[in-house]
Amino acid sequence: MKIKFLGATHQMTGSSYLLEDTKIKILVDCGMFQERNFINRNWDPFPVPAEKIQYVLLTHIHQDHSGLIPKLVKEGFTGQILLTPASKELFPIVILDSARIQTEDAEFKKRRHEKEGRKGPYPEIPLYTVQDAEKCFPLLKAVPYEQFLQLNEQVKVCFHDAGHILGSAMIEVVFRDENGSKNVIFSGDIGQWDKPLLNNPSVFERADYIIMESTYGDRNNDSPQDIDDKLSKVVNDTIKSNGNIVIPTFAIERAQELLYHFSLLVRSKRIPYIIIFLDSPMAVEVTRVFKQNKNYFDKETKKLIESNRSPFDFPGLKLVESIEGSKAINLIKGSTIIMAGSGMITGGRIKHHLVREITRKESTLLFVGYQAVGTLGRQILDGVSPVRIL
Ligand SMILES: [Zn+2]
Repeated sequence: MKIKFLGATHQMTGSSYLLEDTKIKILVDCGMFQERNFINRNWDPFPVPAEKIQYVLLTHIHQDHSGLIPKLVKEGFTGQILLTPASKELFPIVILDSARIQTEDAEFKKRRHEKEGRKGPYPEIPLYTVQDAEKCFPLLKAVPYEQFLQLNEQVKVCFHDAGHILGSAMIEVVFRDENGSKNVIFSGDIGQWDKPLLNNPSVFERADYIIMESTYGDRNNDSPQDIDDKLSKVVNDTIKSNGNIVIPTFAIERAQELLYHFSLLVRSKRIPYIIIFLDSPMAVEVTRVFKQNKNYFDKETKKLIESNRSPFDFPGLKLVESIEGSKAINLIKGSTIIMAGSGMITGGRIKHHLVREITRKESTLLFVGYQAVGTLGRQILDGVSPVRIL
């Protein structure tokens, strides 16, 4: 069995590994490149002919792990896409959203480049459309945690809870040849211990090989108490100066974690009543999937829900799906909290809110997630000025 790294090397995004021997070709993840410098690689043909691959194993539905699957299908992949049941529910939401953004961005770029008489570094056509994305859905096959699935005589796989986002998995691949049996564990993104909502990541007794993500390997994470303290200070300070709090939010997990923290702060009156907008159709849809998958939550969250203190339902919370609703947020007088996607300000409604808020001294732009090098979020965080938004 050979392994080839197809992305996420010397960079953050584009996670994808090819496992192959003479009988089988397996792709573990099929992620999109999201750093501005590398985005053009998304348009390159796959390093292996797509129709030669039998399986895609998906650790989780974040785009840097899943975003190129429709392109793989478009190029001829007809095998199975194995993922956990929760990932199977989330996958269509994420991929359709990605397809819509691709289409909008391509049109927008085309118009801008025409107006400015220049050419961009990659074609002004969407990587895939909604129709392309829909062709993936029949190939999805849910595999529950902790159940081995035999792919052929030599290879079996098992998904273990990674505690990173809802449905996330570390994937164990066991392969057997004349030299015996070996296992390799693909960690995917690894969750933090004692994080709200989800269980802790799985622990393994042994492994022959480990392919591990190391994005956060060099930092200490805040404890949930630290996060509550920081959040309540930011909110109270900004309310005092009459500004808005604008938070670029990843639609999956980070948005729901924020709701968890805000629900605690509101209920314990550590912040005053304030309207909190979750202005992202995708985050709203994902929150619905969260509500329907209580069995994946940790003990603490289950207890909150049983005692009618759901983190996804509390005074002041407004879920915004329509564009009209999003625009109406501008009309609100007084301080509000606006959570909108995308998480690294690479697209979505957050850009429109930023255009209005970024020069208001009284407002706060609050970063709550990793900002990859080359994204607009990272530029702002690094103090680049001026920046180009839209
Ligand atoms: Zn992830």
